[in-house]
Formats: sequence, C-alpha cells, structure tokens
Amino acid sequence: MAKIITEYLKTRKPKEFIDILQKQKVNIVFDIRFSDQYPVYYRQAELQELLILHNIDYLRFKYLGNPSWNRPPQKTDWFECKKSYYNQVLQYTLSENQIKAARLIMATKKDAVICLICYCDTLNPELCHRFWLKDVLEDFQLISKYREDL
Ligand SMILES: [Zn+2]
Repeated sequence: MAKIITEYLKTRKPKEFIDILQKQKVNIVFDIRFSDQYPVYYRQAELQELLILHNIDYLRFKYLGNPSWNRPPQKTDWFECKKSYYNQVLQYTLSENQIKAARLIMATKKDAVICLICYCDTLNPELCHRFWLKDVLEDFQLISKYREDL
C-alpha cells in the first residue's frame, strides 16, 4: 500500500520544505489547499516546478481543500467543520472526481510515499483537513487491500 503522510507549508522556505520531503522519501505530493495564492513561491505553478526539479510528482486537488466557509472565523466549532468536510465538501461532484483520481494513483503506485499538504501548521488532527482526508484515503486503501486478499 502507498504510505500517506501530511506536511504543511507555513513558515517553511522552499529549501527547508524540500529537505523535509526528501528525508521522508516522498514521491508524490497531493496539494489539497483550496487556495494556492499565498505565499507566492508556493503557488501551484511555482510549487510544481520546485518539486519536479527534485523528482517529486505534484498533483493539485483543489476540491479536496477545505473552503473558507468551512473554517474559522466563518465557522468556530472545529467538530462541525470536520463533519461538514466529510458530509458536504467531499460530496461535491468535483471533490468525488478528485478522490477517484487520488485513489487511482494510490492503487497504481503501491510503493509510493504520498504527502498531503496544507498551508496551516497545526499538528492537531482535529484542526486540519489534511488529517481528515488522510483517514478517508487510508480507509479506501484498507478496503481495497482486503478485497484483493479475499
Ligand atoms: Zn490545514
């Protein structure tokens, strides 16, 4: 099974970020930020170029991002945010399609280390959708592995 980890961009300069990914032998980055506009050196095109230069594949999954309406200050209860991330955000057609694409990559790159990235630097799994999505993707992987083993 592909290994799934998560990292954040906030406060990290590109060189430092690449070092962190290389130490963990990351092969593919799934960029799951809803917005990629800040900081400028981590905009989609710039980040992709930086990663490709270091032999790390890059894929942007905007619709697996957590939109601003589902985060503080618009919403203040993190439990509610997590709930609507699962029950609402991930149910949009665009999000479902991106989950399918992510699963396909995971299924074909079984030895890969995949890193989900968000901007925010929280390490509390209740406070960022990169942890919430990691759980979803790992569950899918376990289910398909179980099916293969039958
Ligand atoms: Zn986050």
